[in-house]
Amino acid sequence: MIIIKTPAEIVRMRAAGELVARVLKILEARIKPGITTGELDAIAANECKKYGAIPVFKNYPHPRGGRPFPGVICASVNNEVVHGIPGARILHEGDIISIDFGVLLDGYAGDSAITVAVGQVDPEVAKLIKVTEAALLKGISNAYAGNKLGQISNAIQNYAEKHGYHVVREYVGHGIGKDMHEDPAVPNYGRPDRGPVLKEGMALAIEPMINIGTRKVNVTRDEWTVVTGDGSFSAHFEHSVAITANGPEILTLR
Ligand code: MG
Ligand code: MG
Repeated sequence: MIIIKTPAEIVRMRAAGELVARVLKILEARIKPGITTGELDAIAANECKKYGAIPVFKNYPHPRGGRPFPGVICASVNNEVVHGIPGARILHEGDIISIDFGVLLDGYAGDSAITVAVGQVDPEVAKLIKVTEAALLKGISNAYAGNKLGQISNAIQNYAEKHGYHVVREYVGHGIGKDMHEDPAVPNYGRPDRGPVLKEGMALAIEPMINIGTRKVNVTRDEWTVVTGDGSFSAHFEHSVAITANGPEILTLR
């Protein structure tokens, strides 16, 4: 069931979104060769404590009964697509890292992700990051009341494939509100006439995951980390977006 938010609820979601954006900005500034993903996780944990926010990824139940997610952030490096576990891994020049981060603040969720280059990266990899962020914005630019949800999905897929990249299908965006994951599913591919009609008061977390090579993915033995099937690099960007009378409002704008 898709839950329609009142304007007062959107105000509270805006606060949650702003906090997520602020923390991602802090983390982005700290991404340099030599830092570990665990250090980034500790920074995010500390910011949550400072603002009285609940880090919603921490202890998130495993979908197939494995161990709960151990991090505050998801830290996915290079060929890792999403759900990378932060820890001792050191970032090196030429790596890319996607950081996905979500909170519950005052009863409402915010969820956003960025992919950041560590120092200088290969030009093809820099282009992947640029195209993935632009694909997200293409999707958001279709988030108008009266449109079909499929128009968001289709715009993302078209843009990514036009640049020769491949869209992950096994993982998708989602509605967001009092829960981080609500209906509807927001695929990053598919026909424009698919899915529900968008309505004012819907809030969506739109999050393309785009690979240089095959769109196929695998889960590693740590039970969480999703990697590309061919080892190629993958990028991920996400915003929480409210559909308002004036069009899409990005709640997690940095
Ligand atoms: Mg996320
Ligand atoms: Mg999400």
